[in-house]
This record gives sequence, structure tokens and C-alpha cells, in this order.
Amino acid sequence: MMIDFHTHNLSPGISQFFMADLKIPQNLTSNQYFFIGIHPWKITDSFDANNQLTEFKNVYKKAQKHSQFLGLGEVGLDKIKPPSLKIQADIFQKQLEFAISLNVKTIVLHNVKTFDCSLEILKTSGFRGKLILHDFYAHPNVYEQFNKHCKAYISLGMRGLNSRHLLSYPLESCLLETDDSNESIKNIYKIASEKLTLSVGEIDKELCKRLKEIVQN
Ligand SMILES: [Zn+2]
Repeated sequence: MMIDFHTHNLSPGISQFFMADLKIPQNLTSNQYFFIGIHPWKITDSFDANNQLTEFKNVYKKAQKHSQFLGLGEVGLDKIKPPSLKIQADIFQKQLEFAISLNVKTIVLHNVKTFDCSLEILKTSGFRGKLILHDFYAHPNVYEQFNKHCKAYISLGMRGLNSRHLLSYPLESCLLETDDSNESIKNIYKIASEKLTLSVGEIDKELCKRLKEIVQN
């Protein structure tokens, strides 16, 4: 069973972690899970922070009653997109504090050139749960920094699979994802199998273990 650990597109029948923004998805199949959160790209000029945070809290609370809800995501920071890091950090921090107050187990983190800042916010928050570093392709030291404070996972898409650091990532912390690309998860598994010199079956077996770890909170 192939698993897509990060997508913005629900595909019936495929096992997926779906980033649902601020809407509880209605038509999940039994092997699909979802996260609720304000993506940093949604913080545009017309963004009303108070309103959106209230909405976030309401939806998040409702989502908690759902058996396929896994936690907070996709949230984080993005240095190459507006608005300022300060505004993004504030929204990120508020969502994080709220989710922690409701005992969040898993967080999906968006990080573009902002590892130091995200790490600082996470450390201050005291979060010790599972953290999925989505679209990761950085040096393994960065992963280690996060893994000291949480149980961190490296989620690999095309950038990660093409990273010169790929073979230094601990396999038992790796996941695979399509994100918002047109790539199929089948193709991502195939590329991972070539790059990691493992059979698709072996990768599948590993990732089923990861799925269990994350889902069985
Ligand atoms: Zn994403």
C-alpha cells in the first residue's frame, strides 16, 4: 500500500495525509487522514488575522472529534513569500500554542529558509510530539536539531530525492510525499527506489511502519 504523506489533492483510494486548510474534509476513505492549519501562503494582504485564528480554533476543535484527524498542519514560515517573517511567526506561534493546549500529537511544518526561527518557536512552545519536516532537502544536521526536541520525520518529495544529502538521511525517519505537484505517488516511490537502491516493496514496508507510528498516537 503506497502512502502519500503530504498532499493538497485528495485522491479516492490512495492512502494520504491531506492538508485540509480550515475545512474538515467530507469524503475521506478509511486510509486517508487530515491536518488543519493556516498555511503561511494564505497570509496575504487581505488576511484578517483575528478572524482567521478564530476560524482556525473552531475548525480545529471540531476536527478533534474526527477519528481521521491527525493534528496541526500545514503551518510554518516562508522567507521568500510575503508578509514579513514577524507576521508569519505570530500566526504560526498562536496556532501552535492553541494546538498544544489541546494536546496535539503531530505537526506538519512548512519551512523555507527559516529553520532557525521555526526551531526557536518550537523549542519555546515545549512541543515534544511528532514533527513532519515537509519537503525537506537540507543538511541532516538540520534534521538532528529538530529531532533533539521532537520526534522529527523527513518528508521527501522531488527536491528531497534529488538532494545531495539524501543518502545521509536516516531511513527510519523518512517519508514520501507529492505535495501540490502533478507527480503521482507511484512515481515518487519508483524514484525513491532507484535513488535509495531499495525495492519498491522494501520502501513500502518501511513506510507502512512509519504510518503506524504516526497514526497510532
Ligand atoms: Zn504542502
